[in-house]
Amino acid sequence: MSTTVTPTAAPAFPAGSVLGYPRIGPRRELKKALEAFWAGRTSADEVEAVAADLRRRTRTRLAELGLATDAPAIPSAFSFYDHVLDAAALVGAVPARFADLQDADGRLDLAGYSTVARGRGDDLPLEMTKWFDTNYHYLVPEIGPGTAFRYASDRPVAEFAEGLADGVLTRPVVVGPVTFLALSKPSEDAPAGFHPLDRLDDLLPVYARLLTELAAAGATWVQLDEPALVSDSVGVPAEALHEATTRAYRALATELARPDRPAILVAAPYGDLGPALPVLAATDVDGIAIDLVRGEAPTVVVGGLAGKTVVGGVVDGHNIWRADLDAKLAVLERLETLAARAVTVGTSTSLFHVPHTVEDEPALDATLASWLAFADEKVREVAVLAEGLTEGREAVHEQLLAASDAVRSRASAPGVVRPEVRERAAGLTDEQFRRGPFAERKSAQAARLRLPALPTTTIGSFPQTPDIRRARAAFGKGELTAEQYEDEMKAEIRRVVELQERIGLDVLVHGEPERNDMVQYFAENLDGFAVTRNGWVQSYGSRCTRPSILWGDVSRPAPITVAWSTYTQSLTEKPVKGMLTGPVTILAWSFVRDDQPLGDTANQVALALRDEIADLEAAGIGIVQVDEPALRELLPLREKDHAAYLDWSVRSFRLSTAGVRPETQIHTHLCYSEFGQIMDAIDGLDADVTSIEAARSKMEILGDIAAAGYPRAVGPGVYDIHSPRVPGEAEVTELLSEAVRTIDVDQLWVNPDCGLKTRRYEEVTPSLEHLVAATRTVRATL
Ligand code: GLN
Ligand code: ZN
Repeated sequence: MSTTVTPTAAPAFPAGSVLGYPRIGPRRELKKALEAFWAGRTSADEVEAVAADLRRRTRTRLAELGLATDAPAIPSAFSFYDHVLDAAALVGAVPARFADLQDADGRLDLAGYSTVARGRGDDLPLEMTKWFDTNYHYLVPEIGPGTAFRYASDRPVAEFAEGLADGVLTRPVVVGPVTFLALSKPSEDAPAGFHPLDRLDDLLPVYARLLTELAAAGATWVQLDEPALVSDSVGVPAEALHEATTRAYRALATELARPDRPAILVAAPYGDLGPALPVLAATDVDGIAIDLVRGEAPTVVVGGLAGKTVVGGVVDGHNIWRADLDAKLAVLERLETLAARAVTVGTSTSLFHVPHTVEDEPALDATLASWLAFADEKVREVAVLAEGLTEGREAVHEQLLAASDAVRSRASAPGVVRPEVRERAAGLTDEQFRRGPFAERKSAQAARLRLPALPTTTIGSFPQTPDIRRARAAFGKGELTAEQYEDEMKAEIRRVVELQERIGLDVLVHGEPERNDMVQYFAENLDGFAVTRNGWVQSYGSRCTRPSILWGDVSRPAPITVAWSTYTQSLTEKPVKGMLTGPVTILAWSFVRDDQPLGDTANQVALALRDEIADLEAAGIGIVQVDEPALRELLPLREKDHAAYLDWSVRSFRLSTAGVRPETQIHTHLCYSEFGQIMDAIDGLDADVTSIEAARSKMEILGDIAAAGYPRAVGPGVYDIHSPRVPGEAEVTELLSEAVRTIDVDQLWVNPDCGLKTRRYEEVTPSLEHLVAATRTVRATL
């Protein structure tokens, strides 16, 4: 590692650092404080105090775990809600409908910031969308020709100063200007053809001001996150992104020189920089953090790196397995041939995608726990690798051995490889991935199900009432016996069936009362999975999920849903739809083993589901829905990787569903409506009926489906369940009439956009009544 110091060299960068850390708190302290504030139970000052305490504990913890406090190893990367919203607040970019929340200097207080995130009355909040290929959702800023950029928040500077006052030199983290604009959408008043990136030159002075303020406060390094550079899916052509990068960092790194600014680290998590690496290297930024878990280590010397620090992101910020430190060290050593000024160790992404610490999981099997690294354990891994890199392998010999032992233990532990699962997967034939011709299925299903035109149904869940939650909690604590719990759930199913019959729906569901979560429920009932107690991960704002851990070969010890579905069917003459979560979604919303291709793991899950479907079919259930809302989510960021992903994901869905007889109808539900890139894949699923979100976009997607000549049935959502609003009967009639004009009526089903579990009966009952009434009206016109 070169340590040549020239007068113009950037200040030293620490040998080990992390790109970010969980911000919700080990006991979800921030969530609780925010929700109390929103409910009017606490003051903004109290939330600020909780947040300051959390930041202080984070700094202390990271220092204890081995990160330097006198060099900028510890990120200052707190957020009350979302880091993209923070960037919007920083630059004063608030949509016109919320302009009244800003003070004369463009600042938002905590209440105003919360309102932009959550909406008020008819003022919709910023739209929420997925953050790269993670399960985190960010708020989409709205930028127009008139957006008045200005330096409107001193939070990054204040939080840096807060650390310094505690004796910790942190590294402020802010979303970079290119990514900020690339992820924004044009404001409502923007003319056609406008893109927020058109405003780059107007935005850069605000970033420049931030950098000078940070330098004045004593910051030596700042981290600007530019993950847009690893993706082909941000809606901006690569050339435009590259040109913007060059322009942005000419302004921030060349025209603004040290010491008027801190040294700049540009971080590019979530994937391979590819052609963007030489573009970044050619700028005057002082360091580049590259993702070496998802991305490739550059093997050729890239011009421009010679004066720069390279942060090798070898520790996976996105998954929870202990790293093979020996192998990681080798990757870092190879990086030294790049002839950068320095090579240091980092995480591939921020650690906020993983829970706080394995130490908080006493109930987890000890062997499994010994294979895991949550955020804190990953910080230790970074510290060990940093020591290995600076002091030599010998200095960390013991730790390297312990890590290799853990990897070996995982490879050979019982349950990780199960011969019977392997044999079954190895013996799969093409036949098992294929159903018979659709025309034949269609007539067999019509004869069996005898449904009216425009059949009505729901997506599966009915409201999870406080009573249901209370019963589940009591069962968890042992206050209810299994039998009592089952009785309560059955009573709920009876209520849900009665309601659906009274409303007049055609295909009924059981309502999913027994499921805490559509993935965890299956994880708890399949071999090869574990669940955590405190493993919360921020999903958006104050919302957290607790992903399951898929650690071993997957199989189904016993039928899971069959008793619930047959009980439901016993209550009604109408067909009851069985309800399962598909293999891709189970993988997407869990932490998945990284020791074999995802497609192999997906096929194991698919075979377990295939057995479940066979049992449902044998028990007389004529319709089974296999939900795949995450199919679009897992789509890789680089286009060159799409085909391979779509191949294994579609195959696994087919494997799970293709074992049924022609008269058994397979449904799938895909949630979102951005299907442009995956239309062929949807066709490939070969489901008899596909339900999708369509209410908000006013059935737009149907035009594409019709134009593509899609032959099977679709259920475009006619009721937007994401809001408490009850759609009127006339409104649903209008949407349905539009649907009937767009696509063959034979192909149409009628359903809400998604499941109803987050809604209340006061909203759901009238909405479904309107849905059925509207359907009758439209049927009468056919
Ligand atoms: N069947 C699930 C439900 O209704 C589907 C949920 C989803 O698509 N996310 O809740
Ligand atoms: Zn959905």
